[in-house]
Amino acid sequence: MRRAGLPGIITGAVSLLLIIAMVVLIGRVLQPQLDDLRTGQRAMRDAHDAMLDQETGVRGYLASGNVDLLAPYTSGFRRSAELEKVLVASLSERPDLVDRAMDVITAQHAWQSRWAVPAVDPGSGAVAGRGDGRLGAAELSDYLQQGKELFDDYRAADVGLQTAVRADVARVERRIATTLLAAGGVLMLLGVVSLGMLVRLSRRLQRLVVAPVLEMTEDVDRVRQGHLDIEGRSVPEVFELAGLAAGVSAMTHSLAERHAAAEAREQELRVRSTRLEHVLELSRDLTESLSLRYTTMRLVKSVCELTKADQAELWLRGQDVEELVLIARSHEDAPVEGTSRRAGPAAIEIGVGAIGRAARYGRALPLDESANAVDDQTREVAIPMVVGARVVAVIAIRSASGPLDLSLIDGLLLQGASAIQAAQLHAEVEEISHKDALTGLANRRRFDTDLAAEVERAHRYDRPLVLIMLDLDHFKRINDVYGHQRGDEVLQDVAAVLTSDLRDIDTAYRYGGEELCVLMPESTAEQGAKAAERIRERIAGRFTWATMSPVTISAGVAQLGTDSTPATLVGVADQALYAAKRGGRDRVVIAE
Ligand code: GH3
Ligand code: MG
Ligand code: MG
Repeated sequence: MRRAGLPGIITGAVSLLLIIAMVVLIGRVLQPQLDDLRTGQRAMRDAHDAMLDQETGVRGYLASGNVDLLAPYTSGFRRSAELEKVLVASLSERPDLVDRAMDVITAQHAWQSRWAVPAVDPGSGAVAGRGDGRLGAAELSDYLQQGKELFDDYRAADVGLQTAVRADVARVERRIATTLLAAGGVLMLLGVVSLGMLVRLSRRLQRLVVAPVLEMTEDVDRVRQGHLDIEGRSVPEVFELAGLAAGVSAMTHSLAERHAAAEAREQELRVRSTRLEHVLELSRDLTESLSLRYTTMRLVKSVCELTKADQAELWLRGQDVEELVLIARSHEDAPVEGTSRRAGPAAIEIGVGAIGRAARYGRALPLDESANAVDDQTREVAIPMVVGARVVAVIAIRSASGPLDLSLIDGLLLQGASAIQAAQLHAEVEEISHKDALTGLANRRRFDTDLAAEVERAHRYDRPLVLIMLDLDHFKRINDVYGHQRGDEVLQDVAAVLTSDLRDIDTAYRYGGEELCVLMPESTAEQGAKAAERIRERIAGRFTWATMSPVTISAGVAQLGTDSTPATLVGVADQALYAAKRGGRDRVVIAE
């Protein structure tokens, strides 16, 4: 930038120096010369006036003899002496003019000394008393003629001086004018150069400063509006602006990075929040349900979604046995790995395999036995579900596509474990409430529910249904003979015979006291009677020790009729039982 303006600066400086030189020339040389010449011109004019005054005074006096008329002469004489000095002083710088001025002064002095002074002072010169009227007319005329000639000599010298001085004045004035013109030219040149420099400077400023600053302002504005993509700007040439631009760019980059990080974090939080909501919803769902089947199925499906797993299995710890039983699977059809298949459901011994060890030690273990520990790359894992210090279940999770996301699983499994325990307790209570404590058979309440359901089902599908009512014969007597406790044992034993003798779909109930009953779906009266007879026989031959009062049963068998209700079915069976009692006991009677 500095080098580019150098010729302009030099031109400007030279122009300025020239102008100063010209001003000095005019002010210190030409103008004083002109002033001196003009002073000289004025002195010449005044000196001429003084000469005319003197001549007029002398001529008047000579013509009239009146001394008063000499006043102009006297004053003119004095003035012309002073003006001579002024004239010589003002022209002293110009020798040629001084010479001419000396000629004029000499001519003046000649006119004064040879003509005027003798005329006015008779005592001093050769032509004494000229003014007192003593000169004759011819003499006076001669004298006047003589004076005129001397005056003309003076006049000629004076005119010559005046012409020379005028010429000099004109010459100096021309020089001043020329110098001023030149100064004006230089001044114009200076102006043009300055203007050019200004234009160039402004262009450079525009390119180097204004444009980059505008770009930066635009960028800052864009950034303020949230656009953080301000790439592709050229680097400003000016060092300080380059620094500023780099600062703006760095600041924007940093902002963009932070923005991206914040967005990523927000996205992550959104995902997390959705997952948490999912977990919460599931937790709520789990706490609301007391069904073990529903709870465990819901749990395996949710665990799959939450951990991005393909498969999940839930292994429930047995109540009294040291094994885990498979209770729910996300994929029902897939084969069950690493289990001992017995007649019942798939089971794993506690302490055996990753799942068994997870149950024993209460910590998550990789299913892949070669892996050391569970980490963020784990794809298969067995996680214990713990309530208090007890492992209630183990969940086995597998992912074929990638690592499992186990970040939120702990909270979910904690809830799940509590839900499983609650469902188990509920099931226990439920079982207890439907079971007879002494015989272990289903109780009367259960009988009422089942009877209603079975009667309805049989009617709907037009299927047969049989009810057998049984009563121990002379049981009061058995109590009396062998004691109540023995009586209880007899009841338990009869119940055991009943359950062992029935089909899977038949159910035995303790109806009340020593009265029992059996519901037999899909059976006719004949089939029911056969079953009742078999039971009767087994009991009759079972209690051989009861010699004093044998243990036998009577039974009434009733098949569901088209118009039967649960109540009428019970009534009919009861009547058949009553008939058996009346018929002599230890027998089966089929209702008509
Ligand atoms: P039958 O039915 O042959 O007419 O004679 P029964 O002696 O069995 O007559 P009943 O039905 O009147 O008597 C029932 C007796 O069964 C009365 C009661 O002492 C006895 N009993 C009822 N429940 C129990 C029980 O849980 N344990 C014992 N030990 N006895 C019971
Ligand atoms: Mg009875
Ligand atoms: Mg009885």
